[in-house]
Amino acid sequence: MEIQLSRDVIESPFVNEVLGEAKSLVNNCYQCRKCAAGCPVAYEMDYTPAEIMHAVRLGQKDLVLGSKTIWICAACKTCSTRCPQDVEIVKIMDAARRVALREGIKPKVPEAAAFYRSALFTVKNFGRLYEIGLIGRLKLATRDFFKDIGLGLTMFRKGKLSLLPSGWRRGFRVRTILNRIKNEEGAI
Ligand code: SF4
Ligand code: SF4
Repeated sequence: MEIQLSRDVIESPFVNEVLGEAKSLVNNCYQCRKCAAGCPVAYEMDYTPAEIMHAVRLGQKDLVLGSKTIWICAACKTCSTRCPQDVEIVKIMDAARRVALREGIKPKVPEAAAFYRSALFTVKNFGRLYEIGLIGRLKLATRDFFKDIGLGLTMFRKGKLSLLPSGWRRGFRVRTILNRIKNEEGAI
């Protein structure tokens, strides 16, 4: 889909919602594309981070929320660090993901959404990331039981994956914190 060029931000509920959640201005973006040039996973995206920033600015809701890009983004912040205009690209990606989930839009990259949910599940229940639990839940969600099995076994042999979660008592405290955030911000 062709993205039109414009110097203005369109007034729309979608733009207000994304930018309100991200608390970042996108109209400072002058399309230098440094964010796109530095993104380590841009090769997997359907639109570059720069194109997504421009689409947000234009209120192209369907394009943004239906893109692979918002799910492929690994939140590494390389783009935000490089941006000469201080556009918080990673926060805008995050806000777009949350809006998509709230609106019931099916993630374009379901494995990424399943990964986020699985990771959050282990943090909520064990107080920190529990890799074996994450892998198990992710496999159940994706039904892709044999993908990366060799890598998993190598990590296990090298002691990088522990069978039991550590510090699981922290789970209750973390859940309390997350529930408070959910009540206050309606997120998570
Ligand atoms: S680096 Fe910043 S100004 Fe340049 S295209 Fe990306 S968001 Fe826009
Ligand atoms: S935060 Fe996302 S969009 Fe930005 S460089 Fe990292 S992966 Fe790419």
